[in-house]
Amino acid sequence: MGKIASRKVVIDNIEFDSLTEAEFYMYLKNRNDVEAIYLQPQFTLLEPFEISCGRCYMGKVKSPKTGKMIKCKTCGGTGVRTRQAWTYKADFEVWYKDGEIAVIDVKGFANERFPLVRKMFENKFKHELLVVKKTKTGWKYV
Ligand SMILES: [Zn+2]
Repeated sequence: MGKIASRKVVIDNIEFDSLTEAEFYMYLKNRNDVEAIYLQPQFTLLEPFEISCGRCYMGKVKSPKTGKMIKCKTCGGTGVRTRQAWTYKADFEVWYKDGEIAVIDVKGFANERFPLVRKMFENKFKHELLVVKKTKTGWKYV
């Protein structure tokens, strides 16, 4: 598969990742029902969390050399490991004058992880994560 060049586009001193994103921004900006446009809003899909270390028992492991119980290097002897938060940046958050809020991704390159991200986002926020695509007849949600 050939590589498609994604060139940066600057409008209103904002650097967009693609021409399509820039075009969608212009489209939103020219609508009279849009109150505000936020770029790259970040959402936490999963908070950081702790798990018990699977490589030791209560922070101790048996030394393969001496057979004595020593501090687990993976968890630093705490028996606990921390997993980082799962965050996601959408392309746009649009506030409409009627109070409606939309979180929108512009359909770009195929992203294997996206269906999972979308499901997680929707589960957490109980709000549809919209994906917009440019068509011959205008912008369409897909
Ligand atoms: Zn450990």
